[in-house]
Amino acid sequence: MSSLSEVYQEIAACRRCDLYKYATKPVPGEGPENAEIMFIGEAPGWNEDQQGRPFVGAAGKFLDQLFASIGMKREQVYITNMVKHRPPNNREPLPGEITACSIWLDKQIELIHPRMIVTLGRHSMARFFPNRSISKIHGTAEKRNGVIYFAMYHPAAALHQQNLRKEIEQDMLKIPALLKELKSQPAEQTKPQQLSMF
Ligand code: URA
Repeated sequence: MSSLSEVYQEIAACRRCDLYKYATKPVPGEGPENAEIMFIGEAPGWNEDQQGRPFVGAAGKFLDQLFASIGMKREQVYITNMVKHRPPNNREPLPGEITACSIWLDKQIELIHPRMIVTLGRHSMARFFPNRSISKIHGTAEKRNGVIYFAMYHPAAALHQQNLRKEIEQDMLKIPALLKELKSQPAEQTKPQQLSMF
């Protein structure tokens, strides 16, 4: 089995779509290999592309505040995106780019094996909650095969829409109890189920 650093090298050399042509640096993701929680955004923006690190711009600052609100630091969690190179002019990633890039996210999930996956925004929600609407399912959790999937609005949404800021802050506050509930349950369930608290 490959390690995360091998995956990062493969991402740096990835030519599965054209995004690498416009990018300054790949932004594979960061965090410990044994992280309990994985946060998945959409795509690197300008700051991320410059630094090669996820969520280091304005949305990332807000995400750091959200971590602090539940007593967490970003170093404790794994943070990545649906696509690992910045789309030109900050456009949204195309469906073909998301599909091409999905093997890297698959490998990251396989290596890290998080207990909880938090989707940030529509694109990562669509992968784990297909055909659902973010306005309906944000702040709700589903457990499948022992992993909790939790959908949130993208933190950048709070920068433009003040009313969403409160929703995002409140959704984040649900995470510690979800993790606690997961750890208190003995056997891994194989059937999809709603968690009891939401
Ligand atoms: N928005 C994202 O979706 N990801 C980042 O890394 C930064 C901003």
